[in-house]
Amino acid sequence: MTRTQEPNGWRAAAETPTLPRSAQVAVAGGGVNGLSTAFQLAKRGVRDVVLLERLRLGSGATGKSGALVRCHYANVPEATLTHESLAIFRNWDDEVGSGSPGFSPIGFVQVVAPEHEDRLRENVAAQQRIGIDTRIVDRQEMGEIDPFLHTDDLTLAAFEPGSGYADPNATLHGFARAASGLGVRIFENAPVTAILTRGGRVFGVETVMGTIETKAVVIAAGSWADRLLNPLGIDLGLEPVRTQVVLFRWPAALEGRGHRVVIDAVNHSWLRPEGANCTLIGAERSVLTADPDALDESVDASTIPTARRALAARYPIFTDAIMRGGWSGTYMRSPDGRPIIDQIPSVPGLWVMAGDSGTSFKTSPAIGVCLAEWIVDGAPRLVDLHPFRSTRFTEGSPWLDATSYGDDRALTVSR
Ligand SMILES: Cc1cc2nc3c(=O)[nH]c(=O)nc-3n(C[C@H](O)[C@H](O)[C@H](O)COP(=O)(O)OP(=O)(O)OC[C@H]3O[C@@H](n4cnc5c(N)ncnc54)[C@H](O)[C@@H]3O)c2cc1C
Repeated sequence: MTRTQEPNGWRAAAETPTLPRSAQVAVAGGGVNGLSTAFQLAKRGVRDVVLLERLRLGSGATGKSGALVRCHYANVPEATLTHESLAIFRNWDDEVGSGSPGFSPIGFVQVVAPEHEDRLRENVAAQQRIGIDTRIVDRQEMGEIDPFLHTDDLTLAAFEPGSGYADPNATLHGFARAASGLGVRIFENAPVTAILTRGGRVFGVETVMGTIETKAVVIAAGSWADRLLNPLGIDLGLEPVRTQVVLFRWPAALEGRGHRVVIDAVNHSWLRPEGANCTLIGAERSVLTADPDALDESVDASTIPTARRALAARYPIFTDAIMRGGWSGTYMRSPDGRPIIDQIPSVPGLWVMAGDSGTSFKTSPAIGVCLAEWIVDGAPRLVDLHPFRSTRFTEGSPWLDATSYGDDRALTVSR
């Protein structure tokens, strides 16, 4: 049975007998990165793109994402990817033209301990040099920006007035609908079971519904990517990780006022408004290796007080806040906690967006552009992807952020 014109507007072809026998490009994975890439390929005139999703679109990290969109990083390559992505989030109608990413530019504050002031200044200066709208603010200005923010333990913060958060599922479906409108064929319940190679090159994908011949495959399979890579002898050291978020109801004094998006490097948390009157917070200092097929989607009872404490530490008004829900998701961590975006050198025709490391929603619009440019034009032009290369581990050059705000931040999402 082929289903067309789903309520959300894109055409799904699950359980269909019409899987094409060949395609110009096959994308494995219906998360935001797979769909962004499929859309950008079609936008560049590739008329024969097939996207294969194991289960349902958004059933990986994307559907669970906190979806903070901020440019503050302790490195320029990811800040650049986000800066370019921000332009797409802001100009969605012109850039994508279907749906809406639900982007809320309510302003973003990066809070660091006073001992990391120098690093904060360095990072902000690097971001300003590439055109990001960000600045250092002192305690007084922090209070003006967000009157409920606790600042006694701070000296300086970074402020991005035009950053914020998006709706990850709306973003994904916007890309899906736009891609579908340009002819991309999207198949759900269609796991890719193997990448086929001949003479060392990609020549197709095997799925539960049949084989598709293609010379170009993009693996954007999130927490499941190693299952497609390992049989090809490719081990990127990827590790699926479970992470949790908790929702708290706003106290009455916040009604109608709200707060900014905050990453708090002192209390190891990240937070933003959710809906009209709740705050979504992630506040973990450790993560567990997870089997993404056996994910407990709920939030652990022990996580709730940890999250409430972290929230109240930065916003004391939340001290007795009412818990309103939460969930867990998985993402895929690379050995150095930074994404891998590459054409695998040993397998021409195989591109990967892997090891998202819990930080690749906000960069997905630009990642899609870069991968599409690479496949169509032979090289990415929008952003230099060399720092994201897959070979950095075997070269003995894993990614290190010299100006990060502490090693334990490698254990949290949205660092
Ligand atoms: C709780 C949480 C909070 C987060 N917060 C933020 C944040 O604030 N900001 C930010 O930028 N990032 C955040 N992230 C990270 C971000 O959500 C991810 O980096 C991003 O969504 C990854 O998208 P993706 O398309 O690469 O992978 P995914 O969304 O995981 O999609 C991969 C898809 O591939 C499919 N698949 C797997 N194997 C196969 C196969 N063999 N064949 C076909 N399909 C397959 C899966 O079913 C899945 O749908 C967060 C993540 C979590 C879990």
